[in-house]
Amino acid sequence: MYGLPGMYYTMPDGTIKQVNPFTKTEVWTVPGRGKKPLVNKPPATAGNIELHDPEDYCNFCGAHYLNVPPEKARLVLRDGRYEVLENIDTRDYFSTVAEFRRVPNLFEIVTVDYWRLNHGYNLSDKNQEWMDRILESPQGSEHVRRVLDLKLRLSGKSEEEIAALSDDDIRHLSSAFFGGGHELVISRRHYRDGATLSSDICSAGCLSPEEHYRYLSFTISALVDIYENNRYARYVSVFQNWLAPAGASFDHLHTQLVALDEWGSSVDNEVELVRKSPNIYNELIVNFAAYSNLIFAENDYAVALAEIGHRYPTIGIYSKSVNLRPWDLTEEELRGFSTLVHACHAAMGNQVACNEEWYYAPRDALAHIPCHILIKLRTNNPAGFEGGTKIYINPISPTDLRDMFVPRLYELRDQGAISGLKIAEECPCQPNSLKYYLART
Ligand SMILES: [Zn+2]
Repeated sequence: MYGLPGMYYTMPDGTIKQVNPFTKTEVWTVPGRGKKPLVNKPPATAGNIELHDPEDYCNFCGAHYLNVPPEKARLVLRDGRYEVLENIDTRDYFSTVAEFRRVPNLFEIVTVDYWRLNHGYNLSDKNQEWMDRILESPQGSEHVRRVLDLKLRLSGKSEEEIAALSDDDIRHLSSAFFGGGHELVISRRHYRDGATLSSDICSAGCLSPEEHYRYLSFTISALVDIYENNRYARYVSVFQNWLAPAGASFDHLHTQLVALDEWGSSVDNEVELVRKSPNIYNELIVNFAAYSNLIFAENDYAVALAEIGHRYPTIGIYSKSVNLRPWDLTEEELRGFSTLVHACHAAMGNQVACNEEWYYAPRDALAHIPCHILIKLRTNNPAGFEGGTKIYINPISPTDLRDMFVPRLYELRDQGAISGLKIAEECPCQPNSLKYYLART
């Protein structure tokens, strides 16, 4: 048995007990529950859809560029080449099609006033100039006012209160749109190409591998920009909630970025552990998964495995790079990492609600943490038993989870939908394949 004592074992009746080596979360998988294969066919409730061009099915759709706060940047495709347009004029919103857009979230988890009042934060010169420019133009100020009114209405303000706002009030309230620390990266499509049914929504796995790489790369540029414009930000949390059971407000693919003035307890914990055991991500995650046959996909740049000790069935994708932070990965490394993340989403299909969570070394930490992503399948709801005992019942064991992904990955590779990865027994599973511990920072 490799790993820590009691970390992962099967009882005589088939119950699998797992303790997460990082969080110490205790998880059981009891026999006779779960083991549902990944469904790749539409649910019975799916109805026919009428295709609209541009799409107008939700506030994140292309017909509704003006239903969200002013865009910070968009990625467009011109003559086969991707190009980033920053801080575009309101009048130009509909002159190009955004493959991905970076917009402030209407309701911030951590508000601009949090930064202002607790840290003395002010908008950076770059963001202040952009705000002034937008508010000075008639189209820009009308757009801002409309979105602000919507936000205030949804917050329970009366029409009279909204109408009574002074210009100063509007400037103050709308500064959240220009210098807040909660942003969204929204993908172009609501429905995937060739959609006919209401269930044909475009998940991360429905993007092409190239689009998925651009999605990650564009999200990382947003991450860097948030840091550059808020010197108090110690960590930017990056996550994707896919479908309502995972917390998404629209069935339209988007990633969220939230700036924080602390690392958060899970990163604090990882920093502490890696200080004590510098090779812990190899020893207790990747080597352990290799010896336990839980690695199911791999390439030169990353490895994907079924994780142990999570409340939800969870897969982890770990960058092998010596470069720790997402923005330090070379293009080749990010492409290789994206290949595995995309393949996992594609294998899961678009009907499974999930949370994608990013983990990386905070910029003010010396600790070596490999860049990694966890994808948690929201197939179960922890209930009273879990609350009372802190023992979580995860219906899908790590080996069952692996066995759900492997056939789908082979199928997708045979169809040509994914490439550039080794699957299951093909994986080299070399010990200490993550090179983060050699990083110089
Ligand atoms: Zn939409």
